Amino acid sequence: MSDTDTDTETNARDPASTSLRTPIVAVLGHVDHGKTSLLDKIRGSAVIEGEAGAITQHIGATAVPLDIISTIAGDLVDPDDFDLPGLLFIDTPGHHSFTTLRSRGGALADIAILVVDVNDGFQPQTLEALDILKRSETPFIVAANKIDTVPGWNENEDSPINDTYESQSDRVRSRLDEQLYEIIGNLSDEGFSADLYWRVQNFQRNVGVVPVSAMTGEGVPDLLAVMMGLSQRYMKEEMEIDVQGPGVGTVLEVKDEKGFGTTIDTVLYDGTIRADDQLVVGGQNEPIVTDVRALLQPRPLAEIRTESRFEKVDEVGAAAGIKVAAPELDEAMAGAPVRVVRNRDLNDVIQEVQAELADIAVDTGEEGVVVKADTLGSLEAMADALDEAEVPIVRAEVGDVAPRDVSVASTADDPKQRVILGFNVDTLSDAERRAEADDVTIFTDEVIYQLIEEYEEFVEEMEQAQQ
Ligand code: GDP
Repeated sequence: MSDTDTDTETNARDPASTSLRTPIVAVLGHVDHGKTSLLDKIRGSAVIEGEAGAITQHIGATAVPLDIISTIAGDLVDPDDFDLPGLLFIDTPGHHSFTTLRSRGGALADIAILVVDVNDGFQPQTLEALDILKRSETPFIVAANKIDTVPGWNENEDSPINDTYESQSDRVRSRLDEQLYEIIGNLSDEGFSADLYWRVQNFQRNVGVVPVSAMTGEGVPDLLAVMMGLSQRYMKEEMEIDVQGPGVGTVLEVKDEKGFGTTIDTVLYDGTIRADDQLVVGGQNEPIVTDVRALLQPRPLAEIRTESRFEKVDEVGAAAGIKVAAPELDEAMAGAPVRVVRNRDLNDVIQEVQAELADIAVDTGEEGVVVKADTLGSLEAMADALDEAEVPIVRAEVGDVAPRDVSVASTADDPKQRVILGFNVDTLSDAERRAEADDVTIFTDEVIYQLIEEYEEFVEEMEQAQQ
């Protein structure tokens, strides 16, 4: 089928075929600091402000258009000042979705929100998130969350105040100031490059840290305004896409879906995917060449009864989250590239996918520990951390800990290397049994540096026992 057969109205109006896409936003931070609540609040505000259906639910993401952001943010966002279409929030907060996302430039999402609980400050996963942000040079904004828990913060300042109240209010503000100051101080201690921070600092005073409450919604308009403003100001050029071009994206998740077999939840960041496209997807062993069977979007809640949760669509354009059903996807990996072949040489596309995968590949040696992680991005993060800790790696793969990993680990001569380190993955029960029999130790954790600490303690104990 030629390009013109499926031209959309938008394309017809836009012969140059370039357009600005929605920036992709990921939310990171320590567990319980309020990532999910913040996303819920943003989605909830968008639903309240919008006409029914104005915010679109994607697979794995929520698109909040500019006009809704402007309604939520009031005076802070004048839609006439912007030509980016809005913001696309990745729905699964945490490292998982973030380290999964990858764009051509190697950045993970276009922009990130780092959520920090003002009472709890920087915690292990905050630091880990910062590390990932730094390595991927992803610009981010800190949402200093739970300001409603700072006593008195929510008192109405316009109410008739007596001396006692005034001083109380001052105390509260200065306490919050201290907390925010500490967060900013921590950021500079982390040694952020001027470039990364520049996008934030140049925008407006105090913009690096936006105080919010995911519970009351206070500060959410400011946060949205800042995100929108920064994106417009610093990312416009990166958001230019070819709306008719062959789609480019990454696998967010590989999922079995009743009636569709193995599907890939995909974030598309350039071009389009159509229901009759041929695709190349990064796989465990080699690129997978396949044909789209169906493109699936979630059905609005009201329409879900006994029928499928999904609605088939003919085409989607970036930026979007879409579920792709196609044969042969069993070996697809979270974090791997997805490319539409349309009108291009298949071998060229395969080579591009191979090159992108090689770029992510982890250096392994003859000896070392076995590493498993949930996504390519987190595998890379693990490998970097192990490199820093001077722990060699013999095998590094995406996926749960399986019996063959135990086989590899059990061949190590050095008992310190009869080890499997799994980040954000499960251990298959066969593998567990086998590890016990073969004297292989499996460590799994959801925080990289805790995982490495556990391993280092294990090594230390072993060395002490040997003395
Ligand atoms: P996540 O693990 O980072 O996704 O954190 P959650 O969004 O699940 O929040 C953890 C807990 O903190 C929940 O009990 C939330 O209700 C609570 N929480 C989140 N944001 C706020 C906030 O702004 N104020 C208050 N008081 N509680 C919050």
